Amino acid sequence: MRKKIVAGNWKMNNTIADAVALATGVKDGVNDSAVDVVLCTPFTCLKSVGDVVAGSNVSVGAQNMCDKASGAYTGETSADMIKDTGASYVILGHSERRQYYGETDATVNAKTLFALENGLNPIVCVGEQLEDREAEKTEEVVGTQLRGCLAGLSDDQIESLVIAYEPVWAIGTGLTASPEQAQEVHAFIRDLLTELSNDTVSQNVRIQYGGSMKPANAAELLSQPDIDGGLIGGASLDSTSFLDIIKAAG
Ligand code: PEP
Repeated sequence: MRKKIVAGNWKMNNTIADAVALATGVKDGVNDSAVDVVLCTPFTCLKSVGDVVAGSNVSVGAQNMCDKASGAYTGETSADMIKDTGASYVILGHSERRQYYGETDATVNAKTLFALENGLNPIVCVGEQLEDREAEKTEEVVGTQLRGCLAGLSDDQIESLVIAYEPVWAIGTGLTASPEQAQEVHAFIRDLLTELSNDTVSQNVRIQYGGSMKPANAAELLSQPDIDGGLIGGASLDSTSFLDIIKAAG
């Protein structure tokens, strides 16, 4: 039985004061330890949010990470620096990183391996563009991304991943994949994970859906057999909405 995991992706939002207020609202409202909850904040808020949620069921994650340990990489943040704040997760390969910062499956693969080797839990994002879906290439595109991002990972490493399926056309647009569309891709991802590792591993990997998930559509999406949680952008910036989604997962 996979434990559901709901993660908020705050993107480039919130000052430290805003972040502390939002994290306090989430921590105070979470009373269901049946769901893992993660707040993925800007680097500048990781420590403050970590202090707020310390000792609770809420974990903290970053939204990106360098695949090098330290040194002359201006503007980058290492796995050790992220862990030093108390954070334990990191989102890798979000479509906005791919679109605006040139990240490729190879980049995401290097970062994923580095995160795993350095004690962070990666949330690896995959998802097709609208034109891919319209050309009926969703499985081809998502399959290529997953194979690329997971190249060289051991079965144990694959088992410890969280995968986020985020159709790019649904991110921040208000358009959501229907529960059936999402389930179809989640089942495809799980089958591919069996091919890349084995059935036991694949049955243990948690696959989140992301793309305009809100309180109004969360329960139906989260009731699908292969949807094990959500990666939430816009609706994670409001504690009431985010808590309602967590309740729908519980
Ligand atoms: C995201 O950024 O990962 C996301 C799913 O955003 P939204 O919920 O706003 O579509």
